Amino acid sequence: MEMKHFASQIIREIVIISLICAPGCSRRKEPVKETWLAMGTFAAITVADQDCEYLDKYASTARDLMRELENSLSVFKPDSEVSRINQSAGQCPVPVSDYTREVLELTRKYVEISGGCFDPTIAPLVQLWGFNGGTVPDESLDETSVRSLLRCIGYGHLVLSGDSAYLDTPDMQLDLGGIAKGYAVDVCYRKLMEMKAENVMINLGGNIRCHGMSRGNKPWKVGVRNPFDPHSIIGTISLTEGMAVATSGNYERFVTIGNKRYAHIIDPRTGYPVRDMAGVTVISTSAVEADAMSTALFVLSIEEGGKVLSLMPQCHALFIPDKQPLRIWVTHGFAQHFTPEPNLANHIFELTTCYPNQDPHCAGGQPQ
Ligand code: ADP
Ligand code: MG
Repeated sequence: MEMKHFASQIIREIVIISLICAPGCSRRKEPVKETWLAMGTFAAITVADQDCEYLDKYASTARDLMRELENSLSVFKPDSEVSRINQSAGQCPVPVSDYTREVLELTRKYVEISGGCFDPTIAPLVQLWGFNGGTVPDESLDETSVRSLLRCIGYGHLVLSGDSAYLDTPDMQLDLGGIAKGYAVDVCYRKLMEMKAENVMINLGGNIRCHGMSRGNKPWKVGVRNPFDPHSIIGTISLTEGMAVATSGNYERFVTIGNKRYAHIIDPRTGYPVRDMAGVTVISTSAVEADAMSTALFVLSIEEGGKVLSLMPQCHALFIPDKQPLRIWVTHGFAQHFTPEPNLANHIFELTTCYPNQDPHCAGGQPQ
């Protein structure tokens, strides 16, 4: 089932991205894009102009880094550092690499700013609902069983000191599925910048970061999928210099229990999968932030998410509630990078967010 999911995801993402990213080196008939499988999804490097001759070098560098990160961060690998932290919960600290320590430290910001709605210790609940190695429950799953696992959730129980990490309570588990791919994109981005890449786009399962320009000195373009129709997009984002984008949706990974569909993002306040959101796309200055915030805002929903976004002027978001008629809510900053499909222009609504740091009269963002 997981393989089927990945295969269909890969095909759809490749189709959409290749439709949108114009090839950059066709004049010289050089390849512009390399794709491969990494971290349970597809990865791609796309280049333009003078970078075409370095495509192989950039792709093999990114491939090696992603493999290394997967070996450290994946809960699907029993001897990854994260799996070892989980196996040693309540027993002893585990030595970790710089990458693992860095991503765990970065996570703190998103846990705090989301009031705990983003929390990598969500793993026991992710599994209870049948994801990431868990068995899909039947209809008899009751509220008491769900609630009883809430005591195993809490980033405050993760102790980071020096080069070790420790979950101080037995039965706690980490799952970096909401942030690790974004982090991996940033690690590759940093490395490619050291290698003096000029025009490049890195993509890991829809977590994307760009540098420079695509062909013809145009901004890189990324399609945003319509959550209600996997074969179409709702619009296109233009990305420039160092910008990143990520999407969290309810349409790729879900389980069906009874006749209800449950997505793979869990609200740590209730223990239940989020039900009223279809998709959240975030643009920010780093891929780790776009990844973590798309998951966080998926849980927070529009009104609370708008308030959090008003504290993050570098972070722009698009929300699609899971109901009809289709409504697409965008922050002002998002609208500046987004071109909706012409037939959807009157489904777009702007979220009013204001930035207290810049405007002392601002009381915080409110949806219209
Ligand atoms: P994807 O991994 O499909 O790109 P996301 O970035 O939104 O989508 O991450 C979803 C994953 O994040 C889940 O599969 C799970 O591993 C993890 N997760 C689920 N709920 C939360 C949460 N509230 N906070 C942090 N991580 C979560
Ligand atoms: Mg995410």
